[in-house]
Amino acid sequence: MNYYDDNYCRTIDTVVAGMKEIDGQKALELADTIFYAQGGGQKSDRGTLTIGDKTYHVLRSVKDENGDPILFTDCENPEELCGQPVHCELDWDFRYTQMKLHTCLHLMHCLIQKQLGRELDDPLTSTIEADFAINKYKNALVAEVDAEALEAQLNDLLAQDAEVRTWPHEQDAHYRYWNCLEWTMGCGGIHVHKLSEIGSVHVTSHTKKGNRTFTVTLNKEG
Ligand SMILES: [Zn+2]
Repeated sequence: MNYYDDNYCRTIDTVVAGMKEIDGQKALELADTIFYAQGGGQKSDRGTLTIGDKTYHVLRSVKDENGDPILFTDCENPEELCGQPVHCELDWDFRYTQMKLHTCLHLMHCLIQKQLGRELDDPLTSTIEADFAINKYKNALVAEVDAEALEAQLNDLLAQDAEVRTWPHEQDAHYRYWNCLEWTMGCGGIHVHKLSEIGSVHVTSHTKKGNRTFTVTLNKEG
């Protein structure tokens, strides 16, 4: 299994299937993985691998040349781990925040198009940091967007229990789709299943060097 089969899986027991060397750095392949491989603006997962009585930190999960996830860890001799049973644990707080913010970026893009009444190309930049996320566009394309109204529209959506669905392309399992309400787009990221999981958000915007950036942060509940 991998992280697409169950977005909410935080721990798994599996086996170290092999080792790969990329740019002189050794990475591990697991038979099953819950660590999202960095891509599409979403950060790589972090967490730990416990093998025997030793615990190693997952520093980075990336895709290899076939699009399969591999892990860089702080283990100095990863070749010794091949074939060993491993207990994996995700840094869940970090991942769940990424899932919420990532879902918000899609919705924000869709709502910006709705305000403008026309289709927009993908943002110039769409990135998710540890506790906020941004979509950046050419200001000329989004100058008339009302950021305050955008925040209200986004919070209205989040207050619904609307479902988020993702699925793989029929011929290419590495290409995936995202859908929520009337919107569908290509995305290989990880999302929440229900908008109500996100709570409420704060949206700000600023313009610099001809570009306009919309920033979304999650409101702390209670
Ligand atoms: Zn996505």
